[in-house]
This record gives sequence, C-alpha cells and structure tokens, in this order.
Amino acid sequence: MSKQAMLDAIDAERDTLIAFLRDFVRAPTPNPPGDTRDAAAIIRDFLAARGVPCELVGPQESMPNVVSECDGARAGPRLVYNGHMDVFPVGDAHGWTRDPWSGDIEEGRLHGRGTCDMKTGTAASIIAYAYLYARRAELAGSVALTAVSDEETGGRWGTRWLLENDTRWRGDCVLNGEPGSLDTIRFSEKGTLRLKFEVLAAGAHGAYVHRSASPTRIAAALIQRLADVEAIEPSLPASLKAHLQRDDVRRALDVAMGAGAADVVSRTTVNVGVLNGGLKINMIPDRCVFEVDIRLPVGTEPEAALAVIEKILVDFPQASMEVQTWHSTPPNVCAHDHPMIDLIANNAEKIAGRRPVAVPSIGSTDCRYWRRSGVPAYVYGPAPGRMAMSDESVDLDEFIAVAKVHAAAGWDYLDGGA
Ligand SMILES: [Zn+2]
Repeated sequence: MSKQAMLDAIDAERDTLIAFLRDFVRAPTPNPPGDTRDAAAIIRDFLAARGVPCELVGPQESMPNVVSECDGARAGPRLVYNGHMDVFPVGDAHGWTRDPWSGDIEEGRLHGRGTCDMKTGTAASIIAYAYLYARRAELAGSVALTAVSDEETGGRWGTRWLLENDTRWRGDCVLNGEPGSLDTIRFSEKGTLRLKFEVLAAGAHGAYVHRSASPTRIAAALIQRLADVEAIEPSLPASLKAHLQRDDVRRALDVAMGAGAADVVSRTTVNVGVLNGGLKINMIPDRCVFEVDIRLPVGTEPEAALAVIEKILVDFPQASMEVQTWHSTPPNVCAHDHPMIDLIANNAEKIAGRRPVAVPSIGSTDCRYWRRSGVPAYVYGPAPGRMAMSDESVDLDEFIAVAKVHAAAGWDYLDGGA
C-alpha cells in the first residue's frame, strides 16, 4: 500500500469522517466546566469501530484524556499527535443564530462551538492516527495519539499531566491541528506576563489637591512609562532572525492573523486590561489598581521585561507590583527548519494546493509543554475564522485537507515509503 492509497481511502470515507466530526461537535465540552466525557466516548467509539485500542486516563474523572500508541515494523522516531477536546464556553449564547452545539452542515461548512478551536484539528489528528495505525506494519518508529482535556484552562489535568506522568507521550516530534491557516506551520508561541499594580495615596476632597497625590494620575503616568517594555529587542539566533524577516513569512502572518501581525509577533506588547480607581468625581481616590497583560516574543524572557519595569518603578514609590505567576509563562520555540516543516509543506502543497510557511504564533497552545521539554511541536490546522466568537464554523474541505496532510506528513516522517 502506498501513501496515495491511504489518502484516497480518506477521500472515499469523507462522509463517515464528517459524521464523526459532527458528532464530536455535538458533544458539548465548554470549559469551564471542562467536562469532556461525552466527547471522549465519541472518539473511543470511532477508534473502536476501526479496531484501534485506546485508553482514557487522567486525574479528574470528568476530564479524561484519550490516548493510544502503536509501534511500526522497524526502529525509528516516535510521532505524537495532540489535540484538545474542551472548547470555549458560550455563555448565554448571545449572538448565535443557531444552537451552538447544532453541528449543522450548510454550504460546505459545519457549525458549532469549537469547530475552529479545535475539534476540527483534533478530529483530523485522530483520523490521521487511525489511518497510520491500520498501516503500522509499513512504518518505522512509533505513533501516539493524545486527545486531551483542560487545554483552555491551562492543561494541568490534560497535556501537562500526561507529560509529567507518562514518558510514552513525550515522543520525538509532535503534530497538532490548532487553528492557524493552511498557509502556516507554527513553531513558536509568545509568552505571557501578567502583572497587577496598586497605587496608594491618602485621598482627599477633589478640590484639595494639596492634601494628597492622585493615585489615578500616578497610574496614568506609570502606564505611559510601561511602553518602554515594548522597545525591548528580542535576542534571536541569526538564522531565526533572517527567517522572520522573509517576505513570504511576514505575508503569511498578516494574512493569517490580520494586517500588522507580522510586526506584533516579534515584539513585546503591553495591554492594560483592567483599571479601577476612585469612588466619585469630586474626590481624590486613595487607591488605583490596574492589571497589565504583557506578551513576550521568542527571544525575550519575562526577566528582561521585569528588569525594565522594576527600574521604572523606582520613579513611582507609591506603586507596588505583583506578578500573577500562574498566568505567566515564557515564550517557547522549536526549530523553524526541522524536517517536519518540509514534510508538512510538501504534502500540503499537493493536497491543499497551498504551500504553508513556518511562522511564530501569537496565541498559546499545549505545544508549549513539548517545546519546553525539548520536543519539537508543529501546528498545522484550519483557518481560525470565527474562533471563540458566536457562529463559529469550519470549512469541511479544509477539515479533510488537514486530516490528509496530518496523515501524509506522519507517513513520511515514519518512513512509510512512496
Ligand atoms: Zn485551542
């Protein structure tokens, strides 16, 4: 059997595979609360129908992780497929023109919460794994599947737990189908530094400005100064720096994430997400609190940003700062020229008619856990579309294309032959 025969088989089963994705979307998995049991059962049934064994593991009963592994016929590397089952919540479904869990199919698109982020990508990886499992006698190395819970709230019971508790899921390379676009392969993510500032003063009558400094005005001045952080130059290896300046890379970023993304991806950004101070217009407040969300590009560690901020704070003795450690994470990166990049790009060009390029990412995925432990992890998934918005939907041709590219890249990585 050949790689082409495998891809033809995926095409021949298109309707069955779309029905699997539809059922997966119809099993609500909003996080919070993050209960994925129904979705995990659908994956287990899909695999079982193909004779693929799997286990449901994890420390939280309502948040299982579906895992499976198989060996090829000869020695070789281990490829791990990863995707998450939990999705963003829908609240009161404001703005939705249909049931968020409808799984409706209309004009080639499948509708529902989580179609973009990331049930389509997860289903594509599961399909790729199932097809490789059936052909494992022709492969070298081994393949593993990790369809996890708890990604949207940090991965403590999902990917992080798997990697901390079982070496089987580490592997030599990871493929993930988070939304990106068929024009990009993502190899890095920005880091996050979340800070809370508090400015205190005595407070006074609004006309008695000689009696107290103003925490709100001090906060305004401090916020202005925080822009210094945006001037930090990332320190990057020359080859990565050159890669990020390539026209095709910059163009792919702007197309995938909106004009301006190519600049933002490579620099530190500051967002003041919350600002609170004052009770009444004619009073000088005694307190102003604001929260700052700083995003760090590859090459800028949190310590570099904190050093700049601590220097600024010397000029603001009324202000104190606290790092929200649980929500702060350094940037992560793996090779932008790993062989997997070409395997994805070559197959994608043939299958989807578009050759993706390796780009950094702005948002965060579970790939960071592998990259941080030294395992390269790459994201190739469908267009983000209305990800995390009302009326989220996905193009079903893209779904099938992503499944085929994941399967074909895996086949080549595991030396399946022509
Ligand atoms: Zn996601």
